[in-house]
Amino acid sequence: METLEQVAALVRACTRCGLAKGRRNAVPGEGPADARLLFVGEGPGYHEDQQGRPFVGPAGQFLEELLASIGLRREQVFITNIIKCRPPNNRDPLPQEVEACAPYYLARQIELLGPQVVVTLGRHALAWFLPKESISKLHGAARQLGERWLFPLYHPAAALHNPALRQTILNDTAKLGQFLARLDRSAPAARTGQERPAEEQPQQLSLF
Ligand code: SF4
Repeated sequence: METLEQVAALVRACTRCGLAKGRRNAVPGEGPADARLLFVGEGPGYHEDQQGRPFVGPAGQFLEELLASIGLRREQVFITNIIKCRPPNNRDPLPQEVEACAPYYLARQIELLGPQVVVTLGRHALAWFLPKESISKLHGAARQLGERWLFPLYHPAAALHNPALRQTILNDTAKLGQFLARLDRSAPAARTGQERPAEEQPQQLSLF
């Protein structure tokens, strides 16, 4: 069976889209193979491209703050992006780049990891899972996607120069922490599919 490290090796050698030409390093993602949480951002930026690691610049520092606010360290979660190579000048990913990358690599990472909760960071990550939905509507609440949960947050980079959005992300992350605690409390029943956290009224979707 394929491993996450084998997927990472494929990413590092990938030339499936034009972003391969301008990258210094592809950024497959990192984290434990049994991570319960998968964080999915948009794509690598300057610092990530330099180091070949996800979320290592200022947005990454804020992400670590957010994780710490709910008692988590980055080593406990898997962090990756929709696309694995940096777009020039940090522009938005093009649809054809997302199409070349995400079904090929992110989808395999999700299958191999089997995370309980996928936390999308920003509108591009959310759009890959729920193309017709808006982050302004869905942020800060869980939705069930097949056998997993999706929990959309705004992208940490968007909050760096926007104090109001920063507070929104902090509030949403606190809700994520509360949701994880409720999942823990309902774990035995949730495994049988007979009960969900009482506060949630999930919409059933079937992407996974
Ligand atoms: S962005 Fe994805 S598809 Fe494009 S070259 Fe990088 S790894 Fe390959």
